[in-house]
Amino acid sequence: MIIPLLQGLKVTLKYLFAKKVTLQYPDEKPQLARRWRGRHVLKTHASGKIKCVACMLCATACPAECISIVAAAEPDNRKYPESYVLDMGRCIWCGHCVEVCPKEAIEMATAYELAEYTREDLIYDKEALLQSPQERYVVEKRKAG
Ligand code: SF4
Ligand code: SF4
Repeated sequence: MIIPLLQGLKVTLKYLFAKKVTLQYPDEKPQLARRWRGRHVLKTHASGKIKCVACMLCATACPAECISIVAAAEPDNRKYPESYVLDMGRCIWCGHCVEVCPKEAIEMATAYELAEYTREDLIYDKEALLQSPQERYVVEKRKAG
């Protein structure tokens, strides 16, 4: 009886003074891995033009079929996505869309706080995907009042 008790106390004492592994989230944020796959962002050129050329490779490669794109053409025949919709509720965060993109037009940022109250709010349109994760967070917070 005494020996198991002392063994238990030994474990308690060992961890009492050890470096803490728990974080006081959300005040403390975890250190993310360098290749962390977070929220998707559509990238733009320095001119502000969207990099995506609506080639559909990401939508074709997506195993969850959660990307849908409607292509359109500029007067100079350059293609761009008139509509780009990504359903985060279906995404499995595999990163295939990023890997296949020939224009580096889509990336997975570090944002991971993506909780919503409805599935519809997890469907991001082009405008939402063009915003940086931080911008979207601020916009959503303002909307919520
Ligand atoms: S991360 Fe994977 S599942 Fe999510 S949109 Fe990209 S290809 Fe589809
Ligand atoms: S693969 Fe890249 S360029 Fe092609 S549609 Fe997807 S995001 Fe746009």
